[in-house]
Formats: sequence, structure tokens, C-alpha cells
Amino acid sequence: MKIKNNHSLKKYNSFGININSRYFTTIKNDANIDELLAWRKQSDQELLLVGGGSNMLFKNDFQGLTAIIETKGIEIVKEDGEYTYVKVAAGENWHQFVRWTVENGYTGLENLSLIPGTVGAAPMQNIGAYGVELADCFDELEAVELTTGNIKTFNKQACQFDYRDSYFKSTAFGEYLIKNITVKLSKNSQWKINYAGLKNSLAGQELNALNISNAVIALRQSKLPDPAIIGNAGSFFKNPIISQAQWENIQQSHPTLSGYPQKNGDIKTSAAWLIDQCGWKGRQQGDAGVYKKHALVLVNYGDASGEDVWSLAENIIASVNKRFGIRLEAEPRLIT
Ligand SMILES: Cc1cc2nc3c(=O)[nH]c(=O)nc-3n(C[C@H](O)[C@H](O)[C@H](O)COP(=O)(O)OP(=O)(O)OC[C@H]3O[C@@H](n4cnc5c(N)ncnc54)[C@H](O)[C@@H]3O)c2cc1C
Repeated sequence: MKIKNNHSLKKYNSFGININSRYFTTIKNDANIDELLAWRKQSDQELLLVGGGSNMLFKNDFQGLTAIIETKGIEIVKEDGEYTYVKVAAGENWHQFVRWTVENGYTGLENLSLIPGTVGAAPMQNIGAYGVELADCFDELEAVELTTGNIKTFNKQACQFDYRDSYFKSTAFGEYLIKNITVKLSKNSQWKINYAGLKNSLAGQELNALNISNAVIALRQSKLPDPAIIGNAGSFFKNPIISQAQWENIQQSHPTLSGYPQKNGDIKTSAAWLIDQCGWKGRQQGDAGVYKKHALVLVNYGDASGEDVWSLAENIIASVNKRFGIRLEAEPRLIT
């Protein structure tokens, strides 16, 4: 494991923010993980694990060690009458893995096509799109406890998956390096296409994983900016979960506000709608802006700093809170 000094992270974060890390390394195998653990024992520097950097916003240079996870490997580990179990290394690219499943005839992950980033980060926020979440196909993961070096296995229940949340993003934040995940892919196709225009775009086509994946890719490309061209981290805000009473109250004056009932009776509503109503869609503050096609996506049009993007986010949060009494929460990790 080679450690470099003052290394640029511009190409390691999808916002394209031009910041440096005081120390920098890449993790390609188990030996590198052992070296990282040894480094951690003798150093008081902060450690930042990064996959694709597509769910982070850097406000400043990072003063610790940034370790980019680049471990590789895809392996079929088990098969039964209902499922094929596939174990994937944390550093594999998520979308390339989804395409591997689709092209090899496995089903379950097709709706999660084209989500940027790595496999190891997927459980962090239980990635989701088009009516499917990682949790739906998840079997287990292996993670290294950073303080002890012990490798632990977490089943689905232990991961405490929730809406854009997990044990690793909340209770155990910063405590583990996720080494690999195992997904169970169904042998009986149960397509989920009743979501956000997917059914329409599949009209007249045979329903199979490849066609669904292709349709999801086309829909995403029509709505979301490509981070290689316009820096962004996808949805910048989580959809807020509010009480039934508050939702009904807003709905009375704004009947177009959508709501999805949660198990506890609360309502998940649309952050994009709230931001749009406050007039933010398409607006710009310097090089930071709200994407013109999607109010939930904050973008870097060129040389925005992390502070610029965060200042825009704070203005949006304040404005939605003032008008609707709802406090939006950022989805990406803020590195200060
Ligand atoms: C255009 C665009 C569209 C997006 N669409 C979606 C979407 O539809 N649904 C969705 O859920 N998300 C979406 N995202 C967000 C992002 O792609 C996901 O959150 C993705 O899982 C992040 O992966 P990453 O490797 O880039 O993580 P990073 O940004 O590198 O890291 C995210 C967090 O995970 C931690 N981490 C990373 N790897 C490991 C590891 N191996 N072990 C322990 N901790 C680790 C990091 O420290 C950090 O806290 C989108 C982003 C973009 C840019």
C-alpha cells in the first residue's frame, strides 16, 4: 500500500470538487486492507473510505488518509431451487455488476441499473430506484471492524436497512470497511415496473431483465445529469417523512403533493416537489445550481467549491422549512 501526500480528489468525487487529501492510498486486495489496519493503529489521522465518491460533498481539503476501495471479484457461491447467490467484492463498479447479472440471465437488480459508485457503498444507504432497494435482493455482507481487524458477517436483519439508511450509515458509522456483499437473485422473474414511467417505456417489449435494465438506463439518462459532464451526487435531499396530519394539512392547499404511507402511518413525500414549489428548479448561485430537469439534483456547473454547493443547499433547506415547516435532510455524506 503506497501512501501519497497532498493528492487531488477531483476525479474521485462525482461533484468534481477540486480539493486535496493530505494522505491518499488505494486498496486493491486483502494485504492492502491489513496494511490499512496497521496504519490505523499507529496513526491518529482520520480515515476516509471512498468507493466512487458519488455520495459525498467535500467542503474543504481532507486532512486525513483517503483510501479508495478498488478490490475486485464476482463469484457464484450457492444455488438453490429459488435463488442464485452471488458474492461481489466492494470495489466492483455497481452498474457494471448489475449489467453482468442481467447479461447472465439473473434477475432482481435490473431496476438499479446506472446507479453510480461501487458495490461496497451500496449497503451504506440501501441504494434504491424505480421501486426496488438493495435490501430486496440482499443476503449478507462481510465487513472488517476497523478497530480490531475482525471480519464479521451481517445478515439482512443485522444491516438494519431503511430508506437510504443502514446500520453502517447510522449506529456503526465509520466502524467498518465493507469487504463484499452477497446478493440472492431470483430464478422466478417478478418484475417491478409500476414506477415512474417505467411501464410506459416498456410498452410493446418483452418483459425481461435486459429490457427493463435498458429502459431504466434510458429513463435515467433523460432525467439525470451525467457526472462525467456536470458534477453532481444524484438526489441531494432525502424525501422527507412527515406525520399524516402535517401531510393532510399541506395537501388541503396543495392537492398535487404526493404521499407514500409508511409502515408506522407517517407519510413519505416528495422533496423535489417541495423544492420546485419554492422556485429553486434551474436556479444558480455562482457555479452551484439546481438542475433544470430535476429539482432534487444539485450540480457543479464548473468551478463550484463544496462550500458553494453547501451554501445553496442551506438556502433551499431554509426556504422549504419557512414555507412548509419541513426540514429537508441531505443524502450525501458531508466531509467538512
Ligand atoms: C447521477 C447520480 C445518480 C444517483 N442515483 C442514485 C439512486 O438512484 N439511488 C441511490 O440510492 N443513490 C443514487 N446516487 C448516489 C450514489 O450513487 C450511491 O449512494 C452509491 O451507492 C455511492 O457509491 P460510491 O461508491 O460512490 O460511495 P462513496 O460516495 O464513495 O461513499 C459513500 C459512503 O459510503 C462509505 N463507503 C464507501 N465504500 C465503503 C466500503 N467499502 N466500506 C465502508 N464504507 C464505505 C463512504 O465512506 C461514504 O460514507 C446517485 C448518484 C449520482 C451521482
